[in-house]
Amino acid sequence: MQQTHDIILIGAGCSSMQWLDVYHAKNPDSEKRILLLDKDAESPQRTWCFWSAEEHHFDHLVSHRWSKVKFASPLGEVIQEIDPFTYQYVSGSAFFEHAYKNVNADGRIDRVTAEVKKTSFNGSLTTVETNRGTYAAPEVYSSVPNSEKLDNYKKKQDEPGLWQHFRGWFIDTEEDIFDPELITLMDFRTEQKGGAVFFYTLPFSTKRALVECTVFGAEPWEESDYDERLREYTERYISSDINISHREAGQIPMSMMDFDAFRFDGTKSLGTAAGLVKPSTGYMFLRSLRNVERITDGTKAPEKPSRFAFYDRLLLGIIRDDPHQISRIMYHLFSRNSFTHVFRFLDEETSFKEDIKMLSTLPYVPFLKQLTKQSLSRKSAV
Ligand SMILES: Cc1cc2nc3c(=O)[nH]c(=O)nc-3n(C[C@H](O)[C@H](O)[C@H](O)COP(=O)(O)OP(=O)(O)OC[C@H]3O[C@@H](n4cnc5c(N)ncnc54)[C@H](O)[C@@H]3O)c2cc1C
Repeated sequence: MQQTHDIILIGAGCSSMQWLDVYHAKNPDSEKRILLLDKDAESPQRTWCFWSAEEHHFDHLVSHRWSKVKFASPLGEVIQEIDPFTYQYVSGSAFFEHAYKNVNADGRIDRVTAEVKKTSFNGSLTTVETNRGTYAAPEVYSSVPNSEKLDNYKKKQDEPGLWQHFRGWFIDTEEDIFDPELITLMDFRTEQKGGAVFFYTLPFSTKRALVECTVFGAEPWEESDYDERLREYTERYISSDINISHREAGQIPMSMMDFDAFRFDGTKSLGTAAGLVKPSTGYMFLRSLRNVERITDGTKAPEKPSRFAFYDRLLLGIIRDDPHQISRIMYHLFSRNSFTHVFRFLDEETSFKEDIKMLSTLPYVPFLKQLTKQSLSRKSAV
């Protein structure tokens, strides 16, 4: 197979488009011919939220920023300012519109709608076979895990995977109800059945917000189950007089799998395929951005201490075995630590000493139970 392009990107979702945007910002005069392959002509429908204390490459696309965060549970509630962080919102439509404006204006980029089936590497060139043709390049990135390898792996697992699954309502109220500076990151004041269940509220104005019912658990629910919980929650804690303008739903795997085992041959991984979705939270946008910045700079990722994967594994084990404990664990986490510290911990930027101090504020029995279980079975919890 002859080389068709200099670079191929498999998948045209969040991380590939981040790569492309960052690459062209750093190499405006690059002559490289790039192929963007995606099985769908439409971009994935989603929005991204995350906390950040620094300006970043997509800062200009952030349409909302919040400076205060609330945590609530039956044990109590806490509100904190999160300076120097803000919680930020990037809409998928703004992100893809920006990314494609540059792609469409750039004659060096080919965009093809085709499903990648297989890749192979001959030592210098990676050949990419799709349902609509074959392409080859010396540099190939993929945000898509190899589904054949992934399916084989899943078939061998004796337990179903864990998911963060959710359904949200965009609501309008008659009265001024919301503080537009304050998001509710987690509100556990609901029945803990069918997983660890909490509500998430993002207000866009005093009268408009997105309210989501989120579950950490094994199986996604029926739509009507989320709707029932949302109805109960909005009536009790927001208003019984709401207008739902639209709904959104999604599911994010909470998985400790070694994604490198599911890589397409001869490719370098981006985004989900690089295992960058944080298993215990589902956040990825900024982790992926940092990763593409390193790749385009040619620098190596700093070694992350393995203890962060260990914490994630323990928490996922508790979600699987004792989901009703999560509300209490989160209450202790947010009521006994500063939120900025929790964010740094979730960003895997805290020191071991800081981790010990923070972990000592949590109820230890569920962690000890899980630690014992995992040590005895010597088997991944998810
Ligand atoms: C509903 C949802 C909400 C999320 N919200 C947040 C959030 O608020 N904050 C955050 O930080 N993270 C969030 N995440 C996690 C993560 O940021 C997103 O999943 C992100 O879109 C992952 O980017 P990606 O490039 O890895 O994959 P995607 O953006 O999913 O892109 C993958 C692309 O590959 C294409 N594709 C798949 N298979 C093939 C194939 N065989 N051949 C060709 N193309 C293929 C797909 O069509 C898709 O366009 C969310 C995830 C989901 C699912």
